[in-house]
Amino acid sequence: MSIIEKFKLTGQKAYVTGGARGIGKSIATALAEVGADVAIVDTDVEEAKKTVASIKQATGTHPIAIEADVTSPEDVERMIDEIVGEFGRIDIAFNNAGICINAPAEEMTFTQWKKVIDINLTGVFLTSQAVGKVMLEQGKGTIVNTASMSAHIVNVPQPQVSYNASKAGVIQLSKSLAVEWAKKGVRVNTISPGYIGTELTLNSPDLKPLVKEWESVSPLGRIGKPEELQAIAVYLASDASSFTTGSDFVIDGAFTSI
Ligand code: NAD
Repeated sequence: MSIIEKFKLTGQKAYVTGGARGIGKSIATALAEVGADVAIVDTDVEEAKKTVASIKQATGTHPIAIEADVTSPEDVERMIDEIVGEFGRIDIAFNNAGICINAPAEEMTFTQWKKVIDINLTGVFLTSQAVGKVMLEQGKGTIVNTASMSAHIVNVPQPQVSYNASKAGVIQLSKSLAVEWAKKGVRVNTISPGYIGTELTLNSPDLKPLVKEWESVSPLGRIGKPEELQAIAVYLASDASSFTTGSDFVIDGAFTSI
């Protein structure tokens, strides 16, 4: 098979959590552009429906919207059932939903800590476990979990102990699954983006004031765009990455290199 053929996802079935906007929307769009039918999973189902409409119009594939909260085992089970019911199988899973709450460690409430860990880490475990069962039965599948460069460095000035801990957890969780499922045809990898311009960064009251500072520190002199994560997403989704499992990909414009 030629390298071009390996990158094609024609007829493959995928889902992206947190797919309604930002990085998830960009990844879902890229998967559809190379031929996959994608389920957009999000708590914000109205936004997910808008994303479905734009992907359908742009690609002619068959995207669907699914309302689910990744912290709820019942929602996750229903979401997987609905996707399998609609698509018949799941070849590609992007567990991408995540949030950030900034607060000095000594002031962070238990509720704030738990909310971040529940969505960013437990949500990735629940979705990986549920889709893992489907993929193990199929004997094939690829899972990509969204970590962050904050799994690797503690960036000042924002204090985000729960976020950093959750994202470091996502990497080790994914490596553990990669090893457990390696011989069963299921690959598991992570992407660790640096600062990317999305609602999370550009419109959050905590983070928005910091963007200029990040840009001044960044070796590239700017933050990234969601579409700059599309190529790594398609690579990890496709057979082009058949020997790639248990790996983490830092895409940060050299931010963690300084
Ligand atoms: P975003 O806030 O723009 O989008 C996140 C999406 O996830 C939203 O549509 C939201 O409704 C959905 N979501 C939130 N909680 C959910 C839940 N419990 N169940 C289902 N869906 C839920 O964020 P983004 O910037 O696109 O970030 C996406 C992922 O990338 C996150 O995991 C984030 O931590 C990670 N990340 C982002 C950056 C960045 O700079 N933007 C950098 C590194 C990592």
